[in-house]
Amino acid sequence: MNTIQLFNTLGRQKQVFKPLKDGAMGMYVCGPTVYDRASIGNLRAYVFADVLRRMFEASGYSVTHVMNITDVGHLVSDADDGEDKLEKGARREGKTAWEVADAYTKLFLRDLQRMNTLTPSVMPKATDHIAEQIEMIRAIEQKGLTYTTSDGVYFSTEKLPGYGRLSGQKLADKEAGARVEIGEKHHASDFALWKFSPKDEVRHMEWESPWGKGFPGWHIECSAMAEKYLGMPFDIHTGGIDHIAVHHENELAQAEAARGVLEANYWLHNEFLLIDGGKMSKSLGNTYSLDDLATKGISPLAYRYFVLGAHYKSSLNFTWESAQAAQNALNKLVDTVRTWDKPTTVDQASFEAFMAFMRDDLDSVQALALVWKLVGDDMLPSAVKAATLLAYDEVLGLALEDVVARPLKLSSEAQALLDARQAARSAKDFQRSDELRAEFAKLGLQVEDTIDGQRVRELR
Ligand code: AMP
Ligand code: ZN
Repeated sequence: MNTIQLFNTLGRQKQVFKPLKDGAMGMYVCGPTVYDRASIGNLRAYVFADVLRRMFEASGYSVTHVMNITDVGHLVSDADDGEDKLEKGARREGKTAWEVADAYTKLFLRDLQRMNTLTPSVMPKATDHIAEQIEMIRAIEQKGLTYTTSDGVYFSTEKLPGYGRLSGQKLADKEAGARVEIGEKHHASDFALWKFSPKDEVRHMEWESPWGKGFPGWHIECSAMAEKYLGMPFDIHTGGIDHIAVHHENELAQAEAARGVLEANYWLHNEFLLIDGGKMSKSLGNTYSLDDLATKGISPLAYRYFVLGAHYKSSLNFTWESAQAAQNALNKLVDTVRTWDKPTTVDQASFEAFMAFMRDDLDSVQALALVWKLVGDDMLPSAVKAATLLAYDEVLGLALEDVVARPLKLSSEAQALLDARQAARSAKDFQRSDELRAEFAKLGLQVEDTIDGQRVRELR
């Protein structure tokens, strides 16, 4: 098999990927906390994981892709105090935490589908795996690495000699940097494995356990579900860079304490999406969803194209202008490939060049440049370009199979609108012409006035 190189946060360098089992790759993708709509920042993490999976599949691997749904236990603060995000979402919406989780899980999965990401092999929910989490906490307890406070069972990080190996932070540095009140915890880096239900409050989600009624801490769900569906160790763990210092560090610690192995061999982290050069935040009102993008004419696939335009290890700055540029580029690509002849044979040299970039730590920037090189190649017949581009798209995932060599066919309704709009424009009735543009939008179509007349395209 061809060499695949990936930047491993554990070890801090690009490494040649060696699977645990020949021809197979198991990956665990930290899933969303389903208490609110996913932001386009969150979605960057899932486009990244999807492209990673597609690259492995295109390289001949059989991939097991596990993505969890965090529907309990992720607290507002990383220091293990503050409210459970799900209970908070429930209060905000006057619903139960179960209803909130269900509603946002559905919206999240729809978002993924709109960006043409492949469905994970398994999507386990934390609330369906309480027994597995309790069992793993017991194993850690039996190794003597836990202690109990008035509000929960905690992992004692000072008792695990290698703690901090993922982020490279020494325990002492973490303590010094911590500005948080540690309460009854022994060290700032200690974290909850099990939290007790508050005495004065009934939680929507709570379970009996050997330590008392309560709910699992956030990190334990991922270790327990990863082990159940992938075994331990497994090949690749992914998430955004914010997960390195706390969530993934703690997952690694739990696995090491409970099972005596490193949880995963390769830890891959995507950099953040920024908005106008800064952080996305509720208070700035810039935590956009895919729907917010759609209202400004940016489609989910154009957002995917936008994400591919940066290496996953570079931060990516979202502005409406840069998003519109991605939409324009995708429109241009679609308009062009619709006119191509039906796909015949793949140009292997071109495909290999493309895969070489993707196998080199997912260099989607160079890979996209090859897309445009292929489009502009005057020597290759369009039927070969079509086949080659579709092979690229197995990895890029821009759903180009729907448009390559498929000229847009207008319905009779759309054709009638087009004729009416042409008439309005000839009569210089621009108000009517704009009204008709809005009618097009209702059909999922966009009309543009060019020097050659009206051009219609599907919104995609
Ligand atoms: P959460 O729902 O908070 O658990 O986050 C879901 C995923 O999104 C995690 O992998 C985070 O690391 C990732 N993430 C959160 N914010 C951003 C961002 N602005 N850019 C890229 N990834 C992000
Ligand atoms: Zn996780």
